[in-house]
Amino acid sequence: MSRPVFRFAPSPTGWLHRGHAFSALTAFRACRRSGGVYRLRIEDIDRIRCRPEFERGVLEDLDWLGVSWDGPLLRQSERGAAYEAALERLTTAGLAYRCFRTRREVAEVMTRAPHGDEPVFFGERLPSHEERRRLGDGDPFAWRLDVREALGRVGPLTFLETGEGPEGETGLQVAQSDLAGDIVLARRDIGVAYHLAVVVDDAFQDVSRVVRGRDLFGATSVQRLLQVLLELPEPVYHHHRLLVGPDGKRYAKRDKAETLQAIREHGITPEQLIAELDLD
Ligand code: GLU
Repeated sequence: MSRPVFRFAPSPTGWLHRGHAFSALTAFRACRRSGGVYRLRIEDIDRIRCRPEFERGVLEDLDWLGVSWDGPLLRQSERGAAYEAALERLTTAGLAYRCFRTRREVAEVMTRAPHGDEPVFFGERLPSHEERRRLGDGDPFAWRLDVREALGRVGPLTFLETGEGPEGETGLQVAQSDLAGDIVLARRDIGVAYHLAVVVDDAFQDVSRVVRGRDLFGATSVQRLLQVLLELPEPVYHHHRLLVGPDGKRYAKRDKAETLQAIREHGITPEQLIAELDLD
């Protein structure tokens, strides 16, 4: 049997904090327990918010925590061609459309998905003469997934959750892939968007076990749909609890005092931090 492949996929948009340490170590321990492979991916597609010093910070923090990875690290900023190919596949298959609406226009027409609580956006293709005119005028647009068309083609999907979602969801899950509406796949300012990059790279890195925070449980449904549309393999998902600080709020990049760097500078050892994290 082939070895399971885990990954840690931080975005270098700030210094890592205790929550990241928890996530990296949870995946690392599960990986070691199962004799797996551990991949590192730097999710630096957001050209505005990502900075090289934050990537250096990730590497230093992992080194300090004793987390090592197998093979070369993968940077999303170097993967443009693979994302373009995936996007083209979806557009050619008629599963994506150009959406010229501004953010405000999108917000104005949001509706609730059949089972969702949050209003989301379902758009429509423009007639081709209208699309040509807007392209000719140089109007900015986003490529969006036509989620209803996509679901009509593939039917209901499932994924296996070995951790827990926010409502205690565990075991085989029915994906609710339309919950986020017609997600953005790519846009001029951001290039390709998160969901598409993640599924393309999880497949490229042969990831078979996605271990990540519960805040991303909801993202899994649409990621499953993209995997099926792009004929990519299906990983098993494990969403872990989110660490909260003394104030009861989850750690966030804005909490400067809680960065791993600051913790190190206070003379705390990795062993002390690991004991405090109370890993599963
Ligand atoms: N880059 C994402 C983050 O740092 C994680 C994406 C994922 O694990 O799928 O929150």
